[in-house]
Amino acid sequence: MTTNVPAYAAPAPKAPLERTTVPRRAVGEHDVLIEIRYAGICHSDIHQARDGWGQGIYPMVPGHEIAGVVTGVGPSVTRFRVGDRVGVGCFVDSCRECAYCRQGLEQYCVRGMTGTYNALDKNGEPTYGGYSTHIVVDENYTVRIPDALPLDEAAPLLCAGITLYSPLARWQAGPGKKVAIVGLGGLGHMGVKIAHAMGAEVTVLSQTLRKEADGRKLGADHFHATSDPATFERLAGTFDLIVSTVSAPLDFGAYLGLLKTDGALVNVGAPEEPVSLNLFSLINGRRTLAGSMIGGIAETQKMLDFCAEHGLGAEVEVISADRINEAYERVLASDVRYRFVIDTATI
Ligand SMILES: [Zn+2]
Ligand SMILES: [Zn+2]
Repeated sequence: MTTNVPAYAAPAPKAPLERTTVPRRAVGEHDVLIEIRYAGICHSDIHQARDGWGQGIYPMVPGHEIAGVVTGVGPSVTRFRVGDRVGVGCFVDSCRECAYCRQGLEQYCVRGMTGTYNALDKNGEPTYGGYSTHIVVDENYTVRIPDALPLDEAAPLLCAGITLYSPLARWQAGPGKKVAIVGLGGLGHMGVKIAHAMGAEVTVLSQTLRKEADGRKLGADHFHATSDPATFERLAGTFDLIVSTVSAPLDFGAYLGLLKTDGALVNVGAPEEPVSLNLFSLINGRRTLAGSMIGGIAETQKMLDFCAEHGLGAEVEVISADRINEAYERVLASDVRYRFVIDTATI
């Protein structure tokens, strides 16, 4: 039997979010019932709530940075018990059979992962995200939040944290490596913390020097303004890895010029318009231009364990649910340091 639970939803594209209730399915064989404590506000929540990518499902309850506590388990659940601290990220299911699902790369499932919200589940029912008091999720798509991480600071790790951890791990950020993070927002600030904890020499490339003090506090060794053309001359051929978190169009040729031979520029943010590129900026120096999307369940768990071990939570501003619409405007104005997190007790 489904239960209706309080939530904040966008009733229609471009309409402000408002309090409502949404159905949660009965706790199935392999499901856990989670009492949500905190839900992060990700930039993509705003895109989707406002139907920026089209084909939005309304009413839409955004939220894929979920931290909470297990309050019920299905009869066949083995990995979690009532009282466990858990998280849910960007997806709640996938086909479980394809080569990628079998490798723990569920985010690249050939049949498509099931989004935590704005998606249809296996039964064709819409999924509703974390701006809500409770959610029911299969235990195989639920991760454990270590005790060392406060739940409010842990919530943004489920999207922002894993989005940066995965490429930093894959391209081996670590001692002796020079890593640049482009953009110091919700994603970028976690990139700086994680790359620093991995042992890399970290540079922030930000539009201006406005956030330099913050960047250094977060673990950056260097900080440069990309609005200053001298930055691109001074840092030519410097980095092993650049991770770009920005969704504004970049001069990719200029950024590729900052890489060493065999260096990689990995994009986790994407401009809306296609980009053009002179391929000599790749050929010269055997450079790689790549992309990366969140991480699989096993890697997300690994990231949470890593963050707990190194004391890395997100920098958060906890808000009550009635401030979600205001928070959206502030995110769009880049007026947040560095992630809004909703206290779901206020829904
Ligand atoms: Zn996100
Ligand atoms: Zn699959």
